[in-house]
Amino acid sequence: MVKNMQEPIAIAVPLAKRMMNVMVSEKRLPSGEEVREFLKGLNLEELYSGKGLAVFRNRDIVVLIFPRENIVVDVLPASGEVSDALEVIAYHDKKLNSLILEILPANDLEYEGNIGLEPVIVNLETGELESVPVLGDFEEEKDGFYLVVDRETLERWKEKGDLNTCPLCGGELAWRGKKALCLDCGYGVKVR
Ligand SMILES: [Zn+2]
Repeated sequence: MVKNMQEPIAIAVPLAKRMMNVMVSEKRLPSGEEVREFLKGLNLEELYSGKGLAVFRNRDIVVLIFPRENIVVDVLPASGEVSDALEVIAYHDKKLNSLILEILPANDLEYEGNIGLEPVIVNLETGELESVPVLGDFEEEKDGFYLVVDRETLERWKEKGDLNTCPLCGGELAWRGKKALCLDCGYGVKVR
């Protein structure tokens, strides 16, 4: 299945990866300013930035950032189809004393796919990453779109997770060498 439109997940996951890097290395939530820079780096154009809201877009995607105490980022198809909109939220869970980042359907009732994305959980007491998020950037190849994961992510995934489960949708991944394809969501995974 070749996708000719960029889907919200192809922005939400690379954004989450960048936000995670700040959380893991600096033990804090990224600022709204940093999230804006990440989106610019992902080739989105800033249309508006004002009190409590910033708006970005590219051809296919619209992104709304609500930087408050928590960071809430809505990633919507520019077509207005809300059924595959995603929300990236990052917050400090005081009870767990952890920083958490989750990628959720923005609209639970209408979301059309599955979401297999593992949250990022950084324990502030130990400073350790406690979950196994498999995040990365997307790359287009002739036969489709691939989530590119680095070696470190792969090692952790191999050790603590399940390599046969698609990190994006929870479907079954079929590996061929260093590449895998998910028959459920149509995305591939490759390692670099
Ligand atoms: Zn999948």
